[in-house]
Amino acid sequence: MKPVDFQLHRPQTLAETLTLLHDLADDVKVLAGGQSLLPLLNFRLARPAHVVDIGRVVGLARLRRTSSELSIGATVRHAEAERSPSVAAHAPLLTAALPQIAHPPVRTRGTVGGSLAHADPAAELPSVAMALDAVFVAASTSGERTIPAAEFFRTHLTTALRPDELLTEIRFPRAAPGTGAAFLEVGRRRGDFALVGAAVQVTVDGPRIAEARVCLSGVGQIPHRCPAAEEILTGAPLGSARVREAADAVRDSVRPSDDLHATAAYRKDVAGTLLVRAVTKAARRAESADR
Ligand code: FAD
Repeated sequence: MKPVDFQLHRPQTLAETLTLLHDLADDVKVLAGGQSLLPLLNFRLARPAHVVDIGRVVGLARLRRTSSELSIGATVRHAEAERSPSVAAHAPLLTAALPQIAHPPVRTRGTVGGSLAHADPAAELPSVAMALDAVFVAASTSGERTIPAAEFFRTHLTTALRPDELLTEIRFPRAAPGTGAAFLEVGRRRGDFALVGAAVQVTVDGPRIAEARVCLSGVGQIPHRCPAAEEILTGAPLGSARVREAADAVRDSVRPSDDLHATAAYRKDVAGTLLVRAVTKAARRAESADR
């Protein structure tokens, strides 16, 4: 199918973009990499009268590091973030998750901001953002505000962004020394959206886990952070049976639904199994990062 007619706007500056979003807020969509929006337009599931392409907006594709955080501009492509040594050093969970998004051609076009603003609960990056307590920067003609990840994802494909707001950057806290991460998932085919995904980042201190961050995708309407599992893992000796207790905590806390692709019971079980494997892998990586 083809989209319904719309007017395409191609602003060059942030100020122009925000004015367009303000003036057209009732009937406008932002276009970033187009990997989710274009199918929605083609299937006529979205029928905006105006589309604002942010691909040329200066300053939105920057990757910056400070002593405490990594800032990723909204239009940084998945492929660029995936190859970035700064991302690997400061947010290893992102580096673990990015190669699992779709296929290389999608990652060449798709943007980090687009994936997060799209907020598919089966997607990888929303879980990473939730696990790492990322902070979202939203701009409008009234100014800028920051939104913590815990408040950003509202429900399936819905975020706290207002129609007149643009996501401009996402800030990730810098990983401490001795941190390792893993993102594991189960899907029907490689490159498909996963049935279930597990994002895990651990920091080790000698023979113990000093900090653990756990978030599951594909098990609810938004990414599922699991504080109970994090608590069980914190202080646990490496390789101990506590990881199995954490997996039980994950299985107990997720509330997936049955759908065409898998039953809720299957998703629950897989979530726990992925947690065990992801913690083991992340801890191994953390140990080698510590040396
Ligand atoms: P777009 O498609 O341009 O936009 C997506 C949505 O976000 C739109 O509603 C748009 O208005 C809004 N938006 C974009 N940028 C902003 C912004 N800065 N501020 C406010 N709103 C904004 N994704 C996965 O996570 N995992 C997968 O396994 C996966 N598999 C895929 C397989 C295929 C074949 C395809 C085509 C896509 C797949 N995707 C997958 C989806 C894709 O990776 C992301 O959803 C996509 O990259 C979103 O980023 P984008 O830049 O293309 O956003």
